[in-house]
Amino acid sequence: MASIGIVGAGTAGLHLGLKLLAQGIPVTLYSEQEPDAVRTGRLLNTVTHHAPTRAREREVWVDFWGVPELAMKRLSIHVHAPQPFSVQGRLSDPSLCVDYRVYQPRLAEAFVERGGRLEILPVDAVMLEKLASRHTLMVVATGRNGLTGLFPRIPELSPHTKPPRVLFAALLEGLRMPQPTSMHTNLIPGQGEVFESQIITRHGRVPSTLIEAIPGTELAALISRKRDDDPAALDASLLEVMRRFAPATYERIDPTEFGVRGPLDFLQGGFTPAVRRAWAPLGEGRFVMAVGDTHVTNDPVAGQGANGASASAFALAHAITDALLAERPFDEAFCRDTDARMWAAVAPTTHWSNALLEPPPAHLIDLLVTASRDTFVADAFVSDMMIPERILPICASPEATAAYISEARTPRADLLAASGALGWDTGTRIRPLAG
Ligand SMILES: Cc1cc2nc3c(=O)[nH]c(=O)nc-3n(C[C@H](O)[C@H](O)[C@H](O)COP(=O)(O)OP(=O)(O)OC[C@H]3O[C@@H](n4cnc5c(N)ncnc54)[C@H](O)[C@@H]3O)c2cc1C
Repeated sequence: MASIGIVGAGTAGLHLGLKLLAQGIPVTLYSEQEPDAVRTGRLLNTVTHHAPTRAREREVWVDFWGVPELAMKRLSIHVHAPQPFSVQGRLSDPSLCVDYRVYQPRLAEAFVERGGRLEILPVDAVMLEKLASRHTLMVVATGRNGLTGLFPRIPELSPHTKPPRVLFAALLEGLRMPQPTSMHTNLIPGQGEVFESQIITRHGRVPSTLIEAIPGTELAALISRKRDDDPAALDASLLEVMRRFAPATYERIDPTEFGVRGPLDFLQGGFTPAVRRAWAPLGEGRFVMAVGDTHVTNDPVAGQGANGASASAFALAHAITDALLAERPFDEAFCRDTDARMWAAVAPTTHWSNALLEPPPAHLIDLLVTASRDTFVADAFVSDMMIPERILPICASPEATAAYISEARTPRADLLAASGALGWDTGTRIRPLAG
């Protein structure tokens, strides 16, 4: 009987494994760490899952945090231009932010409960060859470090040759959380971006931040000091970041309590985004596929890496199922076809992430300014910007953006439904017809 081996139990490996199990295909996940080691380890990221990923989670019954009050319902964008302005919108489909130290071990448990096999084994290239003889197909999902070297970078799809941002992410204390759960995004021309959100952890809901600094800027200098060397000094720099670059967050800070929550609740550094070929040859005519960050590594500025990894994992699961049903071999032709299918699923996340690393074009600034003045445009824009397939065509040209603005000014049925305005409780957003 066919069996699939997956190296890496991150979101890509887990979503692929769970989807294949749901299709009745036996799967073994090889993970370098026990789920408990992940639970008690360092913060991995500050990932937000958006509506399409949440739909896939429901499809494989891992929507364990689907309580409405935990979901992120609002997004504010503060533009620190010479004349600052803010966009405040409501998401038609709320997003969800769960600490991956909670999320991934819980999904690994679900995988085992459903008959998946989990082996704790760090896999190198030699071991990968050995495992390939045990399985019909091997998939590498070891993230942006792991075994990426096996899969050649595609230069024409990878414009960055060094990290475009210096990153700092942390869980925080001494910051009063907004109600309802929401994200504050600060766009600081010439410096970078500062995000504040709330994340579900094993200690409940806590505030978090992601700071994306353009290298060589004041913002980068403030977050580059190694926190392990002097935690108090870094916390003071973080307070300064919030005071100068995230004033709406700073208003809710108690400076005497503010800082990184615990010694493992932060990460610092940077990485270079890349698109790699999604397959590589192994010995004896076998092939291995890559998925998730191993295939496509995006900068986190758009919050899309894991969402793309999930979309791509499902595309790969469908391709594997189709091949098994058609008794098609996992040969080079399969790899090439599947690479194209996976790239189609993940490409919008890469294009949107790379676009946000550049200064916005004039028509996108027009859209932001309009959204700051019109709540219908704001609601539509913040909802659409979470979904790259939707926002990319909207921003593709000045004409497309203008058409979008004029249409968004008329409230859309899904947004009205989300606001409750189609129910009996309020009519405040239904404007009287003219004449
Ligand atoms: C600060 C930050 C914020 C982010 N915010 C967002 C966001 O808001 N939204 C979003 O969609 N994305 C976000 N991302 C990106 C997201 O974290 C990644 O895209 C996503 O986690 C990739 O999933 P993955 O499964 O491919 O890799 P990973 O999550 O890295 O998982 C890889 C797994 O493989 C294991 N492994 C590695 N090497 C081996 C080996 N040799 N043998 C066996 N196992 C191995 C690792 O232990 C790990 O469990 C963010 C990233 C960062 C850094």
